[in-house]
Amino acid sequence: MGGIIIFIVLTGVAGFIGSNLAERLLREGHTVIGVDNFLTGSTVNMDNLLRSPNFKFIEHDVIFPLVIEGPVDWVMHFASPASPPKYLDYPIETMRVNSEGTMHLLHLAKEKQAGFFLASTSEIYGNPTVHPQPESYFGNVNSVGARSCYNEAKRYAEAITYWMNRKYGIPVRVIRIFNTFGPKMDLNDGRVITNFINQIMAKQNLTIYGDGRQTRSFQYIDDLLEGIIRLMSTTYEQPVNLGNPEEVTIFEVAQLLKELMKSNAQIEFLPLPEDDPRRRKPDITISRTIMDWEPTIGLREALARTIHYYQGQYIH
Ligand code: NAD
Ligand code: UDP
Repeated sequence: MGGIIIFIVLTGVAGFIGSNLAERLLREGHTVIGVDNFLTGSTVNMDNLLRSPNFKFIEHDVIFPLVIEGPVDWVMHFASPASPPKYLDYPIETMRVNSEGTMHLLHLAKEKQAGFFLASTSEIYGNPTVHPQPESYFGNVNSVGARSCYNEAKRYAEAITYWMNRKYGIPVRVIRIFNTFGPKMDLNDGRVITNFINQIMAKQNLTIYGDGRQTRSFQYIDDLLEGIIRLMSTTYEQPVNLGNPEEVTIFEVAQLLKELMKSNAQIEFLPLPEDDPRRRKPDITISRTIMDWEPTIGLREALARTIHYYQGQYIH
Protein backbone atom coordinates (compact mmCIF):
# COMPACT_ATOMS: atom_id res chain seq x y z
CA MET A 1 0.00 0.00 0.00
CA GLY A 2 3.12 2.20 0.35
CA GLY A 3 2.52 5.84 -0.61
CA ILE A 4 -0.88 5.47 -2.29
CA ILE A 5 -4.00 6.92 -0.63
CA ILE A 6 -6.60 4.24 -0.25
CA PHE A 7 -10.31 4.80 0.39
CA ILE A 8 -11.58 2.34 2.94
CA VAL A 9 -15.12 1.64 4.12
CA LEU A 10 -14.77 0.12 7.59
CA THR A 11 -17.78 -1.32 9.41
CA GLY A 12 -17.77 -1.74 13.20
CA VAL A 13 -15.70 1.44 13.57
CA ALA A 14 -17.12 2.30 17.01
CA GLY A 15 -16.08 -1.07 18.40
CA PHE A 16 -12.85 -2.28 19.96
CA ILE A 17 -11.01 -3.56 16.88
CA GLY A 18 -12.67 -1.24 14.36
CA SER A 19 -11.72 1.96 16.22
CA ASN A 20 -8.11 0.84 16.74
CA LEU A 21 -7.87 -0.25 13.10
CA ALA A 22 -9.26 3.05 11.82
CA GLU A 23 -6.62 4.96 13.80
CA ARG A 24 -3.90 2.77 12.32
CA LEU A 25 -5.24 3.15 8.75
CA LEU A 26 -5.36 6.94 9.14
CA ARG A 27 -1.76 6.88 10.40
CA GLU A 28 -0.83 4.99 7.22
CA GLY A 29 -2.22 7.98 5.29
CA HIS A 30 -5.48 6.46 4.11
CA THR A 31 -9.03 7.82 4.07
CA VAL A 32 -11.53 5.95 6.23
CA ILE A 33 -15.32 6.00 5.94
CA GLY A 34 -16.41 4.42 9.22
CA VAL A 35 -19.82 2.80 9.64
CA ASP A 36 -21.53 1.64 12.85
CA ASN A 37 -24.97 1.42 14.46
CA PHE A 38 -23.67 1.45 18.07
CA LEU A 39 -25.12 -1.97 18.91
CA THR A 40 -22.06 -2.79 21.04
CA GLY A 41 -19.77 0.13 20.15
CA SER A 42 -19.43 3.62 21.56
CA THR A 43 -18.78 7.15 20.29
CA VAL A 44 -16.03 7.47 22.92
CA ASN A 45 -13.94 5.06 20.86
CA MET A 46 -14.16 7.47 17.92
CA ASP A 47 -12.93 10.61 19.76
CA ASN A 48 -9.54 10.66 17.99
CA LEU A 49 -11.04 9.59 14.67
CA LEU A 50 -13.56 12.41 14.54
CA ARG A 51 -10.71 14.94 14.79
CA SER A 52 -9.15 13.66 11.56
CA PRO A 53 -10.01 15.35 8.23
CA ASN A 54 -9.52 11.97 6.54
CA PHE A 55 -12.25 10.29 8.56
CA LYS A 56 -15.95 10.35 7.83
CA PHE A 57 -18.60 8.61 9.94
CA ILE A 58 -21.91 7.14 8.75
CA GLU A 59 -24.38 5.86 11.34
CA HIS A 60 -25.97 2.87 9.64
CA ASP A 61 -27.12 -0.67 10.33
CA VAL A 62 -25.25 -2.78 7.77
CA ILE A 63 -27.92 -5.45 7.60
CA PHE A 64 -29.40 -2.92 5.14
CA PRO A 65 -27.65 -1.89 1.89
CA LEU A 66 -25.09 0.87 2.27
CA VAL A 67 -24.76 3.61 -0.33
CA ILE A 68 -21.36 5.28 -0.67
CA GLU A 69 -20.58 8.11 -3.08
CA GLY A 70 -17.13 8.27 -4.64
CA PRO A 71 -14.33 5.76 -4.91
CA VAL A 72 -13.78 2.83 -2.58
CA ASP A 73 -10.70 0.59 -2.67
CA TRP A 74 -11.50 -1.70 0.26
CA VAL A 75 -14.66 -2.69 2.10
CA MET A 76 -13.56 -4.00 5.50
CA HIS A 77 -16.30 -5.76 7.45
CA PHE A 78 -15.61 -5.74 11.20
CA ALA A 79 -19.18 -5.09 12.44
CA SER A 80 -20.52 -7.84 14.69
CA PRO A 81 -20.89 -8.38 18.41
CA ALA A 82 -17.88 -10.48 19.45
CA SER A 83 -18.26 -11.04 23.20
CA PRO A 84 -20.28 -14.19 24.06
CA PRO A 85 -22.69 -12.45 26.51
CA LYS A 86 -23.23 -9.70 23.91
CA TYR A 87 -23.95 -11.99 20.99
CA LEU A 88 -26.28 -13.96 23.22
CA ASP A 89 -28.08 -10.69 24.08
CA TYR A 90 -28.38 -10.00 20.34
CA PRO A 91 -28.48 -13.42 18.62
CA ILE A 92 -30.61 -12.45 15.62
CA GLU A 93 -28.73 -9.19 15.07
CA THR A 94 -25.49 -11.18 15.19
CA MET A 95 -26.72 -13.67 12.60
CA ARG A 96 -28.00 -10.91 10.35
CA VAL A 97 -24.92 -8.67 10.45
CA ASN A 98 -22.75 -11.64 9.48
CA SER A 99 -25.11 -13.01 6.82
CA GLU A 100 -27.17 -10.25 5.20
CA GLY A 101 -24.60 -7.64 6.27
CA THR A 102 -21.74 -9.55 4.65
CA MET A 103 -23.79 -10.08 1.50
CA HIS A 104 -24.65 -6.37 1.11
CA LEU A 105 -21.07 -5.33 1.73
CA LEU A 106 -19.81 -7.83 -0.84
CA HIS A 107 -22.20 -6.25 -3.33
CA LEU A 108 -20.81 -2.84 -2.42
CA ALA A 109 -17.29 -4.14 -3.08
CA LYS A 110 -18.43 -5.58 -6.41
CA GLU A 111 -20.12 -2.31 -7.46
CA LYS A 112 -17.01 -0.28 -6.53
CA GLN A 113 -14.55 -2.85 -7.90
CA ALA A 114 -13.02 -2.84 -4.45
CA GLY A 115 -11.45 -5.59 -2.34
CA PHE A 116 -13.44 -7.17 0.49
CA PHE A 117 -11.80 -7.84 3.87
CA LEU A 118 -13.69 -10.06 6.33
CA ALA A 119 -13.08 -10.26 10.08
CA SER A 120 -13.79 -13.90 10.79
CA THR A 121 -12.96 -15.73 13.99
CA SER A 122 -11.28 -18.70 15.64
CA GLU A 123 -14.83 -19.59 16.76
CA ILE A 124 -15.39 -21.16 13.36
CA TYR A 125 -13.21 -24.03 14.65
CA GLY A 126 -15.78 -24.62 17.43
CA ASN A 127 -14.60 -26.95 20.21
CA PRO A 128 -11.53 -28.12 18.28
CA THR A 129 -10.44 -31.74 18.01
CA VAL A 130 -7.22 -30.66 16.28
CA HIS A 131 -4.68 -28.71 18.30
CA PRO A 132 -3.29 -26.18 17.51
CA GLN A 133 -5.73 -25.15 14.80
CA PRO A 134 -4.41 -24.68 11.22
CA GLU A 135 -6.57 -22.95 8.62
CA SER A 136 -7.10 -26.33 6.92
CA TYR A 137 -9.04 -27.65 9.95
CA PHE A 138 -12.79 -27.69 9.20
CA GLY A 139 -13.83 -27.32 12.84
CA ASN A 140 -16.18 -28.96 15.28
CA VAL A 141 -19.23 -26.72 15.58
CA ASN A 142 -22.65 -27.39 17.12
CA SER A 143 -25.06 -25.81 14.63
CA VAL A 144 -27.85 -25.58 17.23
CA GLY A 145 -25.67 -24.88 20.26
CA ALA A 146 -25.30 -21.87 22.55
CA ARG A 147 -22.72 -20.20 20.30
CA SER A 148 -24.28 -21.02 16.93
CA CYS A 149 -25.68 -17.51 16.41
CA TYR A 150 -22.06 -16.39 16.17
CA ASN A 151 -19.93 -19.25 14.86
CA GLU A 152 -22.40 -20.51 12.24
CA ALA A 153 -23.03 -16.95 11.06
CA LYS A 154 -19.29 -16.41 10.66
CA ARG A 155 -18.99 -19.70 8.78
CA TYR A 156 -21.71 -18.46 6.43
CA ALA A 157 -19.88 -15.12 6.10
CA GLU A 158 -16.76 -16.96 4.98
CA ALA A 159 -18.75 -19.15 2.58
CA ILE A 160 -20.55 -16.25 0.88
CA THR A 161 -17.28 -14.31 0.68
CA TYR A 162 -15.61 -17.15 -1.22
CA TRP A 163 -18.60 -17.76 -3.48
CA MET A 164 -18.71 -14.06 -4.44
CA ASN A 165 -14.97 -14.28 -5.03
CA ARG A 166 -15.35 -17.32 -7.29
CA LYS A 167 -18.38 -16.02 -9.14
CA TYR A 168 -17.46 -12.34 -9.61
CA GLY A 169 -13.71 -12.22 -9.00
CA ILE A 170 -13.96 -9.84 -6.03
CA PRO A 171 -10.51 -9.76 -4.39
CA VAL A 172 -10.92 -11.04 -0.80
CA ARG A 173 -8.95 -11.31 2.43
CA VAL A 174 -10.29 -13.38 5.35
CA ILE A 175 -8.73 -13.32 8.80
CA ARG A 176 -9.62 -15.70 11.61
CA ILE A 177 -8.97 -13.64 14.69
CA PHE A 178 -8.09 -15.43 17.95
CA ASN A 179 -8.94 -13.79 21.32
CA THR A 180 -7.66 -10.24 21.10
CA PHE A 181 -7.69 -7.52 23.73
CA GLY A 182 -6.28 -4.10 24.54
CA PRO A 183 -7.29 -0.46 24.92
CA LYS A 184 -10.81 0.55 23.84
CA MET A 185 -12.36 -2.85 24.59
CA ASP A 186 -15.56 -2.15 26.51
CA LEU A 187 -14.79 -2.88 30.17
CA ASN A 188 -18.32 -4.19 30.62
CA ASP A 189 -18.60 -6.33 27.52
CA GLY A 190 -18.24 -9.59 29.41
CA ARG A 191 -15.04 -11.04 27.94
CA VAL A 192 -12.63 -12.62 30.35
CA ILE A 193 -9.76 -10.11 30.48
CA THR A 194 -11.99 -7.07 30.79
CA ASN A 195 -14.13 -8.89 33.38
CA PHE A 196 -11.09 -9.70 35.53
CA ILE A 197 -9.61 -6.18 35.27
CA ASN A 198 -13.01 -4.69 36.06
CA GLN A 199 -13.48 -6.99 39.03
CA ILE A 200 -10.03 -6.26 40.47
CA MET A 201 -10.56 -2.49 40.11
CA ALA A 202 -13.96 -2.81 41.84
CA LYS A 203 -12.46 -5.07 44.58
CA GLN A 204 -14.78 -7.94 43.67
CA ASN A 205 -14.13 -11.68 43.36
CA LEU A 206 -12.77 -12.96 40.04
CA THR A 207 -15.37 -15.10 38.29
CA ILE A 208 -13.85 -18.20 36.71
CA TYR A 209 -16.31 -20.24 34.65
CA GLY A 210 -15.74 -23.98 35.01
CA ASP A 211 -12.50 -25.23 36.58
CA GLY A 212 -10.31 -22.59 34.91
CA ARG A 213 -8.26 -25.22 33.09
CA GLN A 214 -9.74 -24.35 29.68
CA THR A 215 -7.18 -22.55 27.52
CA ARG A 216 -7.11 -19.57 25.22
CA SER A 217 -4.32 -17.79 23.30
CA PHE A 218 -4.54 -14.05 23.82
CA GLN A 219 -3.24 -11.55 21.31
CA TYR A 220 -2.55 -7.86 21.86
CA ILE A 221 -4.42 -5.49 19.54
CA ASP A 222 -1.26 -3.94 18.00
CA ASP A 223 -0.07 -7.34 16.76
CA LEU A 224 -3.47 -7.94 15.13
CA LEU A 225 -3.37 -4.53 13.42
CA GLU A 226 0.09 -5.25 12.03
CA GLY A 227 -1.18 -8.55 10.62
CA ILE A 228 -4.14 -6.84 8.96
CA ILE A 229 -1.98 -4.16 7.34
CA ARG A 230 0.50 -6.75 6.07
CA LEU A 231 -2.22 -9.00 4.68
CA MET A 232 -3.69 -6.10 2.68
CA SER A 233 -0.32 -5.78 0.92
CA THR A 234 -0.23 -9.43 -0.13
CA THR A 235 -2.31 -11.11 -2.81
CA TYR A 236 -3.13 -14.07 -0.54
CA GLU A 237 -6.89 -14.81 -0.66
CA GLN A 238 -7.28 -17.88 1.56
CA PRO A 239 -8.22 -17.61 5.27
CA VAL A 240 -5.40 -16.60 7.60
CA ASN A 241 -5.17 -17.17 11.36
CA LEU A 242 -4.14 -14.07 13.31
CA GLY A 243 -3.47 -14.91 16.93
CA ASN A 244 -0.77 -15.37 19.51
CA PRO A 245 0.23 -19.03 19.95
CA GLU A 246 1.09 -18.37 23.65
CA GLU A 247 -1.57 -20.66 25.20
CA VAL A 248 -2.65 -20.13 28.82
CA THR A 249 -5.35 -21.45 31.12
CA ILE A 250 -7.99 -19.04 32.36
CA PHE A 251 -6.75 -19.74 35.89
CA GLU A 252 -3.26 -18.56 34.87
CA VAL A 253 -4.77 -15.37 33.42
CA ALA A 254 -6.48 -14.67 36.74
CA GLN A 255 -3.22 -15.24 38.67
CA LEU A 256 -1.21 -13.05 36.30
CA LEU A 257 -3.68 -10.18 36.54
CA LYS A 258 -3.74 -10.42 40.34
CA GLU A 259 0.06 -10.22 40.35
CA LEU A 260 0.26 -7.30 37.89
CA MET A 261 -2.49 -5.36 39.70
CA LYS A 262 -1.15 -6.27 43.17
CA SER A 263 -4.54 -7.70 44.13
CA ASN A 264 -5.51 -10.33 46.67
CA ALA A 265 -8.96 -10.88 45.10
CA GLN A 266 -10.63 -14.21 45.80
CA ILE A 267 -11.59 -16.54 42.98
CA GLU A 268 -15.21 -17.60 42.61
CA PHE A 269 -15.91 -20.64 40.42
CA LEU A 270 -19.14 -20.41 38.39
CA PRO A 271 -20.69 -22.89 35.92
CA LEU A 272 -19.03 -23.20 32.53
CA PRO A 273 -21.32 -21.85 29.77
CA GLU A 274 -22.68 -24.41 27.30
CA ASP A 275 -20.39 -25.17 24.31
CA ASP A 276 -17.46 -23.21 25.79
CA PRO A 277 -14.40 -24.47 23.83
CA ARG A 278 -11.86 -26.39 25.98
CA ARG A 279 -8.73 -25.37 24.11
CA ARG A 280 -7.76 -22.82 21.54
CA LYS A 281 -4.41 -22.03 19.98
CA PRO A 282 -3.60 -20.81 16.46
CA ASP A 283 -1.20 -22.47 14.09
CA ILE A 284 0.32 -19.38 12.45
CA THR A 285 2.57 -21.09 9.91
CA ILE A 286 0.70 -19.47 7.01
CA SER A 287 0.92 -15.93 8.45
CA ARG A 288 4.63 -16.43 9.10
CA THR A 289 5.20 -17.73 5.58
CA ILE A 290 3.16 -15.35 3.44
CA MET A 291 3.84 -12.09 5.28
CA ASP A 292 6.59 -12.76 7.80
CA TRP A 293 4.15 -11.96 10.60
CA GLU A 294 4.12 -13.18 14.15
CA PRO A 295 3.05 -11.55 17.42
CA THR A 296 5.75 -9.51 19.16
CA ILE A 297 3.97 -8.59 22.40
CA GLY A 298 3.76 -11.29 25.05
CA LEU A 299 0.81 -11.72 27.40
CA ARG A 300 2.44 -10.10 30.45
CA GLU A 301 3.42 -6.97 28.53
CA ALA A 302 0.03 -6.83 26.77
CA LEU A 303 -1.83 -7.07 30.07
CA ALA A 304 0.40 -4.41 31.66
CA ARG A 305 -0.36 -1.99 28.78
CA THR A 306 -4.08 -2.70 28.99
CA ILE A 307 -4.23 -2.26 32.78
CA HIS A 308 -2.38 1.04 32.37
CA TYR A 309 -5.01 2.19 29.86
CA TYR A 310 -8.00 1.34 32.09
CA GLN A 311 -6.43 2.71 35.24
CA GLY A 312 -5.71 5.98 33.41
CA GLN A 313 -9.34 6.14 32.27
CA TYR A 314 -11.00 5.46 35.58
CA ILE A 315 -8.66 7.15 38.08
CA HIS A 316 -10.03 10.68 37.59
P1 NAD B 1 -17.10 -4.94 19.35
O1 NAD B 1 -18.38 -5.44 19.89
O2 NAD B 1 -16.23 -4.09 20.25
O3 NAD B 1 -17.30 -4.11 18.00
C1 NAD B 1 -18.24 -4.48 17.04
C2 NAD B 1 -18.82 -3.20 16.42
O4 NAD B 1 -19.76 -3.56 15.39
C3 NAD B 1 -19.60 -2.33 17.43
O5 NAD B 1 -19.18 -1.00 17.35
C4 NAD B 1 -21.05 -2.50 17.00
O6 NAD B 1 -21.87 -1.39 17.35
C5 NAD B 1 -20.90 -2.70 15.50
N1 NAD B 1 -22.06 -3.35 14.88
C6 NAD B 1 -22.66 -4.52 15.26
N2 NAD B 1 -23.71 -4.79 14.45
C7 NAD B 1 -23.76 -3.79 13.53
C8 NAD B 1 -24.62 -3.51 12.44
N3 NAD B 1 -25.65 -4.31 12.12
N4 NAD B 1 -24.40 -2.39 11.71
C9 NAD B 1 -23.37 -1.55 12.02
N5 NAD B 1 -22.52 -1.78 13.04
C10 NAD B 1 -22.72 -2.88 13.80
O7 NAD B 1 -16.28 -6.23 18.87
P2 NAD B 1 -14.75 -6.37 18.42
O8 NAD B 1 -14.02 -7.16 19.44
O9 NAD B 1 -14.21 -5.04 18.01
O10 NAD B 1 -14.92 -7.29 17.12
C11 NAD B 1 -14.84 -6.74 15.80
C12 NAD B 1 -14.86 -7.84 14.77
O11 NAD B 1 -13.78 -8.75 14.99
C13 NAD B 1 -16.14 -8.70 14.80
O12 NAD B 1 -16.49 -9.05 13.48
C14 NAD B 1 -15.72 -9.92 15.58
O13 NAD B 1 -16.49 -11.04 15.22
C15 NAD B 1 -14.27 -10.07 15.14
N6 NAD B 1 -13.48 -10.82 16.13
C16 NAD B 1 -13.06 -10.25 17.29
C17 NAD B 1 -12.32 -11.00 18.20
C18 NAD B 1 -11.78 -10.41 19.48
O14 NAD B 1 -11.11 -11.14 20.23
N7 NAD B 1 -11.96 -9.16 19.80
C19 NAD B 1 -12.02 -12.34 17.93
C20 NAD B 1 -12.51 -12.88 16.76
C21 NAD B 1 -13.21 -12.12 15.84
N1 UDP C 1 -14.50 -16.72 31.32
C1 UDP C 1 -14.32 -16.81 32.70
N2 UDP C 1 -14.74 -15.77 33.45
C2 UDP C 1 -15.32 -14.65 32.94
C3 UDP C 1 -15.47 -14.54 31.53
C4 UDP C 1 -15.06 -15.61 30.75
O1 UDP C 1 -13.81 -17.81 33.22
O2 UDP C 1 -15.65 -13.73 33.72
C5 UDP C 1 -14.01 -17.85 30.48
C6 UDP C 1 -14.99 -18.30 29.40
O3 UDP C 1 -15.88 -19.25 29.91
C7 UDP C 1 -14.02 -18.88 28.37
C8 UDP C 1 -12.77 -18.00 28.50
O4 UDP C 1 -12.86 -17.39 29.80
O5 UDP C 1 -13.67 -20.20 28.70
C9 UDP C 1 -12.66 -16.92 27.44
O6 UDP C 1 -13.90 -16.22 27.42
P1 UDP C 1 -14.19 -14.95 26.50
O7 UDP C 1 -15.64 -14.64 26.65
O8 UDP C 1 -13.21 -13.86 26.78
O9 UDP C 1 -13.86 -15.46 25.01
P2 UDP C 1 -14.27 -16.77 24.18
O10 UDP C 1 -14.98 -17.76 25.06
O11 UDP C 1 -15.14 -16.26 23.08
O12 UDP C 1 -12.97 -17.30 23.70
